[in-house]
Amino acid sequence: PIHPVDVPPFEKLTSEQKNVYTLIVKRFLATLTKDATAEITKAFIDIKGEPFVAEGYRLLEPTWKLIYPVKTGQKEIPELHEGEKARVVSLKLFRKETKPPKRFTQGALISEMEKLGLGTKSTRHEIIRKLYSRKYIIGSTPIPTATAFAVVDTIKPYDISKPDMTAQLEKDMDEIAEGKKKEDTVIKKSREMLQKVLKSLEDNKHEIRLSLRKALTLQNTIGTCPSCGKPLVIRTSSKNRKRFVGCTGYPSCRVTYPLPQKGSIARTDRKCEQCGAPIIKIGKREVCLNPNCSTKKG
Ligand SMILES: [Zn+2]
Ligand SMILES: [Zn+2]
Repeated sequence: PIHPVDVPPFEKLTSEQKNVYTLIVKRFLATLTKDATAEITKAFIDIKGEPFVAEGYRLLEPTWKLIYPVKTGQKEIPELHEGEKARVVSLKLFRKETKPPKRFTQGALISEMEKLGLGTKSTRHEIIRKLYSRKYIIGSTPIPTATAFAVVDTIKPYDISKPDMTAQLEKDMDEIAEGKKKEDTVIKKSREMLQKVLKSLEDNKHEIRLSLRKALTLQNTIGTCPSCGKPLVIRTSSKNRKRFVGCTGYPSCRVTYPLPQKGSIARTDRKCEQCGAPIIKIGKREVCLNPNCSTKKG
């Protein structure tokens, strides 16, 4: 595995570099220890005929878990014996709902692409990077933006949206490399396939444009104007190309707010309690959009 080869000058490292180095050291040391041992208790409890289960976890020899702690969320329970009677101290009734599946992390996304035969080992990262730069996804655990939904919804009826086409092409290309298929045949086939797709997109140009424009406006909406109630959107100044927030009620409403020129900007759907302007997210910071707001003074 990757392992430390030297002690770096710690005082010269950035905190990010320090974290990476410490992670490598801890991970490496953890691989050298014995397996950790733990005791797992499972108690089946009967309360007036209703079955209850309690699970406990106690580390006996933590070994590598001392160096490289992993959160398990498991709880310890006291020692119990078979047939033992316990007193019910309190009863609580919980109302719970099923949760949607977790979002794909970037790593999971890459394995999913691999499964579907999309991209190659060297292009998958680039594909994801492109999704970020075109603002189809945001955040370190990618969250699709309104644009992404719009593009997907818009092209869904057309073959180009399905992974099959790309996967087939990748497979064909592998087979050319292996000498199983002729280049000409594959090129001819993919040309026909793409022409069909292009034609269907061309025929529906108008609807596609409308649907995408609507989504982009929605994505640029940052909140509601405290003065007139119309949506506030991110705009780019035609004079100096700087971004700012303007009211869609312009010209009858002239509310504008300045924006920092760097960093990602996202809506929060919350309002400032002091001045009523939208709260926005600049990078990881949540602030009131209004520069003259009392929350920014003192
Ligand atoms: Zn307004
Ligand atoms: Zn405010």
